[in-house]
Amino acid sequence: MRPYENGRTVLVAGGAGFIGSNLSARLLADGDRVICIDNLETGRQENIAELHDNPNFAFFLHDVIEPFGIGGPIDRIYNLACPGSPIKYQRDPVHTFKTSVIGGLNLLELAQKKNARILQSSTSEVYGDPDISPQHENYWGLVNTVGPRACYDEGKRGAETLFHEMHEREGIDTRIARIFNTYGPNMDPEDGRVISNFIVQALTGDDLTIYGDGSQTRSFCYITDMLDGLTALMETEDNFGSIDDPVNLGNPGEFTVFELAEIVLEMTGADCGISYQDLPVDDPRQRRPDITRAGRLLGWAPKIALRDGLAPTIAYFRDELGKQRRLKGQ
Ligand code: NAD
Ligand code: UDP
Repeated sequence: MRPYENGRTVLVAGGAGFIGSNLSARLLADGDRVICIDNLETGRQENIAELHDNPNFAFFLHDVIEPFGIGGPIDRIYNLACPGSPIKYQRDPVHTFKTSVIGGLNLLELAQKKNARILQSSTSEVYGDPDISPQHENYWGLVNTVGPRACYDEGKRGAETLFHEMHEREGIDTRIARIFNTYGPNMDPEDGRVISNFIVQALTGDDLTIYGDGSQTRSFCYITDMLDGLTALMETEDNFGSIDDPVNLGNPGEFTVFELAEIVLEMTGADCGISYQDLPVDDPRQRRPDITRAGRLLGWAPKIALRDGLAPTIAYFRDELGKQRRLKGQ
């Protein structure tokens, strides 16, 4: 690794993924040194290709279920390592569970050794298929422990427990962000989540695949707002004595999946239809964050409305698909 000159050293686990690569770019732009570790399970080298030119960036191919050792100081650790897309995290459920729980513990122990502050990327999935809306942090959730999503939901819930106990018992400076659906550039066109699927389908002229009748809701947060929230949560000092408790981060604007399909069709100008497919087992019916706590503790609220975030996201996917076509010589 190259010697660094100024700023702090930040380790980003999962730094080649969608959120992690955007966060790494933001931190480098802010003058930090970034150590990115990733097993490239769902992350992509393309996402960090430009970062390699920066002498303050270092990449290590590493699976967080194994301990990670490195000399020198580490000031901050963001744990974003875990596949985010349901089809991806269900491919190897045991590994997904290990990633959250064993990976989380390994990074907590690294934080302890380095005296670093550590932020866990938890998820709205800890609320499962919620029977209240919006979901606030004191709601304990409605989660199936043995369904197909459990490897992710329960792994993330277990990781929250570990972060809490390691804070209480070992004094580690921990933060827990419960991230709601987030989208934007650097998503993998083959990721499988609804925003990437709909935009790629619209741009390639395929029917949009709606699972179920499309009446289920999600709240979509644009990536720059999420980065503002994550960095604010990491850097805010503990004025109220509870900054280690979970904090919802997401955009409260709530849309049905059908409404999202209509917006994507309108914004892309695509002339394709809709193909209705089976609703996946345990698919949550509604999801909308109560962000009162984030507002009070961090002074944070998202600024980007769905259409304003979709415009650059559509432009990004158009560009990605163009690159893929050129590579295939079409
Ligand atoms: P992503 O799948 O694009 O990125 C995850 C990254 O972690 C990838 O680069 C992947 O290769 C890496 N990774 C996975 N398992 C690993 C392991 N065992 N060791 C090392 N690296 C590993 O997903 P994302 O959307 O960028 O999500 C980032 C984090 O935020 C995840 O922890 C996810 O659970 C959480 N989150 C995301 C959303 C969202 O809507 N994007 C919502 C809630 C929570
Ligand atoms: N979904 C859909 N079509 C797709 C992909 C997803 O209708 O091609 C639905 C999915 O069933 C869920 C919602 O969109 O109700 C959000 O799915 P996603 O995988 O993006 O994230 P989730 O919030 O379920 O983790």
